[in-house]
Amino acid sequence: MKFKLGNLICETRKKISGFWNIDGYEIPTTIINGKNKGKTVVISSGIHNCEYAGIQTAIEISKELNPENINGVVIIFHPVNYSGFFKKIPAVIPEDNKNLNRAFPGNVDGSICEKIAYNFSKTLYSQIDFFIDLHGGDLYEEATSFVYFPGIGKKEIVDFSEKVAQVLSTNYRVKSSATTGAYNSAAIQGVPSLLIERGGNGIWDRDGVIDYKKDIFSILSYLGALINFEYIENSIQIKITQANYISSHLEGYWYPRFRAGEIFEKNIILGEIKDCFGKTLATYISEYKGVILYQVSSLAIRSGEEILAYGKI
Ligand SMILES: [Zn+2]
Repeated sequence: MKFKLGNLICETRKKISGFWNIDGYEIPTTIINGKNKGKTVVISSGIHNCEYAGIQTAIEISKELNPENINGVVIIFHPVNYSGFFKKIPAVIPEDNKNLNRAFPGNVDGSICEKIAYNFSKTLYSQIDFFIDLHGGDLYEEATSFVYFPGIGKKEIVDFSEKVAQVLSTNYRVKSSATTGAYNSAAIQGVPSLLIERGGNGIWDRDGVIDYKKDIFSILSYLGALINFEYIENSIQIKITQANYISSHLEGYWYPRFRAGEIFEKNIILGEIKDCFGKTLATYISEYKGVILYQVSSLAIRSGEEILAYGKI
């Protein structure tokens, strides 16, 4: 059966690459329509345009998959925020300065960011079985490798998403309570989903992409979408159900005490914000034993900015 996504049409046993056009905004897209029936899976990258490990992974996967090794349909975006990719301004769609991962489920009459979210919600999610969103720490962030599964949605959708998360090689899987992200919105609409974090600080390397690809192939294999690839369940992966997201209430200089992935005890200083004369303005203490999931790596901190996320272990 042919697969249609807006202006893009892919016949059975074919692979096409082109731009999905959303009200004039063009998203580089590859669609692979497999030789056998199966699930329809989306691999999205670059909703955050400076998270390069995910974007490069998506580009390589779009080259390596073909109708002969796929059951069902695989759709790959590489990247979604294509205009922001060239501007190198982190996190936002430059046309309206909005963060797409805060814009779901979107608005048909809104700005371009809201229109993209709306088209994902209406045109894409209605015809897919699984949504994978590739992220990584942003230009000014470091992240440990982990996977988010949605915490809000029907129980069977949440449970199935978590089950799939366990074929990833990441050390942690984290239950999300967010609703406005692309993958959260997919789950709320009945599509199981995951968000993967790998990399950060505007850096990507060969080993990181190889690890990332292996995780994606494992998911596709688990879903029955990829032929001739064996997934392995990660029996030592740790589940995190409680996480603390700390935002700064003031502008200043940021001095973290730990690196992403490091483990700390309860009542430990996680970092401080100082002023330009070195005077301490704020100190952040751990509420429980945990692991740094991601944190800002820039010295500069804006007021209201999220600076640190840690999970309880
Ligand atoms: Zn991101």
